[in-house]
Amino acid sequence: MIKVEPYRPQPFIDFSLQANVDAYQAALARVRAELLGKHYPLIIDGERIDTAEKLLSTNPCDTSEIVGSTARATTEHAQRALDGAWTAWATWKAWDVDARARILLGAAAILKRRRLEACALMTLEVGKNYAEADVEVAEGIDFLEYYAREAMKYGGFGAADTTWYEGEENGLMYLSLGVGVSISPWNFPCAIFAGMLAAPIVAGNCVIAKPAEDSGMTAAFVVDILIEAGLPAGVLQFLPGVGEEVGEYLVQSARTRFITFTGSRSVGLHINEAAAKVHKGQKWLKRVILELGGKDALIVDETADIQGAVTAALQGAFGFNGQKCSAMSRLVVVNSVYDSVVDAFVERAAALTVGTGEANANVTAVVNAESFDKIRAYQEIGKGEGKLLLGGQAPGKHGGKTGHYVQPTIFGDVDRHARIAQEEIFGPVITVLRARDWQDALDIANSTEYGLTGGVCSRDRARLEQARNEFEVGNLYFNRKITGAIVGVQPFGGYNMSGTDSKAGGPEYLGNFMQMKAVTERF
Ligand code: NAP
Ligand code: MG
Repeated sequence: MIKVEPYRPQPFIDFSLQANVDAYQAALARVRAELLGKHYPLIIDGERIDTAEKLLSTNPCDTSEIVGSTARATTEHAQRALDGAWTAWATWKAWDVDARARILLGAAAILKRRRLEACALMTLEVGKNYAEADVEVAEGIDFLEYYAREAMKYGGFGAADTTWYEGEENGLMYLSLGVGVSISPWNFPCAIFAGMLAAPIVAGNCVIAKPAEDSGMTAAFVVDILIEAGLPAGVLQFLPGVGEEVGEYLVQSARTRFITFTGSRSVGLHINEAAAKVHKGQKWLKRVILELGGKDALIVDETADIQGAVTAALQGAFGFNGQKCSAMSRLVVVNSVYDSVVDAFVERAAALTVGTGEANANVTAVVNAESFDKIRAYQEIGKGEGKLLLGGQAPGKHGGKTGHYVQPTIFGDVDRHARIAQEEIFGPVITVLRARDWQDALDIANSTEYGLTGGVCSRDRARLEQARNEFEVGNLYFNRKITGAIVGVQPFGGYNMSGTDSKAGGPEYLGNFMQMKAVTERF
């Protein structure tokens, strides 16, 4: 065991202090000077490999700006990456767990030093404002710190408890699985990307990481930090590329032992199905870990602190423009307080600033043209399904900049079966539902096929206890916002179509990437 202080989450930076705003802007200037236009190749067996075709990263808040690019892996690269990773695994799996953990601790230390740079890069690449970028980098550091400590619990023979039996020595050991693929989304390109590869790696596996196309530079930034911290060649193969090409190939390959995926329900279900098919030469059942979308609800009842509830709704709805799996996309309000809650919610949402991530606006542009089109289509669907209370337009520009700007939008009095009450929109478009009473509100909240996050604002103890048992979500919050899970504090993962409930940042998470062996010796 390495001597480390107990795990503690990183504190967040306070941007109400001008000095911190100045430091952030200095980091933006540095990143613009040093990283803008940078091109990141693939990394296979430690070798940086360029490709004829590139994937461009654009600034969603100013689409005329190319932030940089990555290489675009082909299926031949994927084959090479698999070859190299299996070779690397033969030695990596035998590394002492403490030595593996030290690499994560080292990477966390580097990321702490480069915290504002990582933030600034995400501001440019995916349009995060200062606080959204900062909490994400903090989460990335937390994942590295937390999984390093967790890994040490699993070392050695007898790591898990077994019952003593006369005349025998019995023990249970944890072993790594082999080579897996980690396929991640663009909305947490630092934290989720880092966590989804650090966990299997520290558990002794080798990983092929396929980042999302929209956030390849942030992913490359994280990979460079892990390499600087001493990760041996081949343990982490970096394969930016197109999901349907290289991602699909890796999912199908007979040589892929596990797949850890975070992304949309549709791609996740496809991967689940594809991974179930056994290919020629395949010796195992692929293990699949899926964390998917949500249609997350916050309930406000008549006993709630109304202003506190409105703050919770606002933060959950519009943080990073609603582009979080945990975002509050449904606000369910009990009839007797519906008007006062909804009026205050709309009034405060109308006061949110819209603009660039660099200008630290509350609401920035959404990530890409596909998202923009999807959100715009839901704004139109919403006009036929509910009462438009705010926004409703997608101007596609703001303050002289062309970007994927959509207005913060709220629809009231929406039927629980409406499409905008059931389908994930993944943008700043909020559906408000009127419930007859508390029980009806809970029924509405449970009426989608998702089950990721949810919340209740109430002062009624019995109702909170009922929700504790009956609200079908993986992460439930009372009297606060429903986003912002902290590693180790609120292990994160959803029920139903929201995923396999793997609980990232939780005490069982590393078990997803290990298999147990029970060994008995009779003397
Ligand atoms: P996405 O479109 O499903 O993409 C996720 C990843 O899958 C990307 O790297 C994508 O590559 C890749 N991919 C696409 N098609 C593939 C295929 N056929 N085979 C293998 N890989 C493929 O999701 P997204 O738009 O990036 O992220 C938003 C979604 O993620 C939302 O639904 C959100 O709720 C969910 N999410 C869930 C959690 C959670 O913890 N539950 C956390 C964050 C986000 P390309 O970039 O090349 O398309
Ligand atoms: Mg981008």
